Amino acid sequence: MDRFENFINGKFVPAANGKSLPVYEPATGKQYAEIPDSDGADIAAAVGAAKATFPAWAELDGVARGQVLEKIARGIEDRLDELVAVESRDQGKPESLARRVDIPRAALNFRFYAAAASQFASESHPAPGALNVTLRNPVGVAGCIAPWNLPLYLLSWKLVPALAAGCTVVAKPSEWTPASAALLGEIARDAGLPDGVLNIVQGVGERCGKALVEHPDVPAISFTGGTATGADIARRAGPMFKKLSLELGGKNPTLVFADANFDQAVAGALRAAFSNQGEICLCGSRILVERPISERFRDAFVAGARKLEVGDPRDPNTDVGAIVSREHYDKVLGCLETARKEGANILCGGEALKLPGRLKDGWFISPAVIEGLGNDSRTNQEEIFGPAATLIAFDGEAEALALANDVRYGLAASLWTENLGKALRVSEKLQAGLIWVNCWMLRDLRTPMGGVKDSGVGHEGGFETMRFFTDTRNLCLKY
Ligand code: NAD
Repeated sequence: MDRFENFINGKFVPAANGKSLPVYEPATGKQYAEIPDSDGADIAAAVGAAKATFPAWAELDGVARGQVLEKIARGIEDRLDELVAVESRDQGKPESLARRVDIPRAALNFRFYAAAASQFASESHPAPGALNVTLRNPVGVAGCIAPWNLPLYLLSWKLVPALAAGCTVVAKPSEWTPASAALLGEIARDAGLPDGVLNIVQGVGERCGKALVEHPDVPAISFTGGTATGADIARRAGPMFKKLSLELGGKNPTLVFADANFDQAVAGALRAAFSNQGEICLCGSRILVERPISERFRDAFVAGARKLEVGDPRDPNTDVGAIVSREHYDKVLGCLETARKEGANILCGGEALKLPGRLKDGWFISPAVIEGLGNDSRTNQEEIFGPAATLIAFDGEAEALALANDVRYGLAASLWTENLGKALRVSEKLQAGLIWVNCWMLRDLRTPMGGVKDSGVGHEGGFETMRFFTDTRNLCLKY
């Protein structure tokens, strides 16, 4: 049985209360590891370590901080095979996806901010007789709370800009996917990151996460996860006037117009719907198709979904791996049951699969394509966060926009058309923080990522995240 400890002040330690939690492998449904069931005492120790080392880390110049971050990037690349295996075993995603996306992207997060650390500048505003200098100082100890769907990728997307900006960090990974964060602790230590600059505390949200949010010495919380959790965090942190960045849920539309490049639109919509088992906040789970091509699109999309290989995450031919946990597996199956009760026509998939051999107790669901439901159905309004996508036909731009925007969320959208004017007109009115035209999840780390409506507040990416982890101070010099 593996054991992943907390990483506090440069040392791997168990929870102060001696308790632990089980960690399961989604592909087998079996426990394979345990983690500390940390609480306020462990968070207090981690925050204490981070606070003690903050002045020294903040006083290093950006180049020096960047050098350590670059060494961590190389450390991740050196342990690529191990991290790929660990991330896939913990999360259920295909190893091929972890190798292509998750782990290289985590390394890139470090490399990107290694460079950004030395380029981050304060602003000056010269005026006759006075010079204003707007300084940005790191806030102190940053709290970073991450979800389970892209464990190392999303955890690093928060903690690296915090470190680059000069903050020290207490990070809490998801209790369902703790393994890659534990390895990151080793890599950071081996790269020479000073003790206490990065602390990783494992445990459940209700005890460990809450204690981090409520700790008075943590002035900024960067959270990625569900909308209900985000609301709870906002309720607790709001009265303490903490800085908050909340990246929350989505129910993202994919809009396919009749003039789209058909094959590219089908391939793009399939990738957007089912990558990582549909467990990506940016997944396009509502596919809106212009009526003249809706039947042809439906047939091609269903044929594509049927071809997706559901199987062992270790198998290089697997497209769709296992669902992250028993709890989430039951939730997704429950959503599919709701769709059936609402009168959906499930064109393919949506079944709990029993696979042979070591996978016999694993949590696998075949990719579901659903039609026949109105946009006001629960299936089209609530985030499923699994391998399930709905199809809805529309007539013209106005109806496409009305359907796309008629949800509480506003995270991402992708639209497919060969008409640039239409792409711009529709994009202007889409209520979404990220809009892709003729592509999906094409990311440039310099650009802001974040949602509107119930998908959150704040943005991550580029200097924007580094600014989040700083306090602004204006100095006015009269001469
Ligand atoms: P979650 O909200 O259950 O948990 C996220 C993290 O918060 C975990 O580490 C958890 O332990 C912790 N947590 C739970 N309750 C807490 C509390 N009361 N106080 C402090 N911390 C707490 O989310 P999840 O199930 O891990 O992730 C899935 C959700 O995340 C989906 O809704 C998905 O859309 C969203 N997500 C959003 C983005 C984005 O960028 N907008 C990216 C990935 C995932």
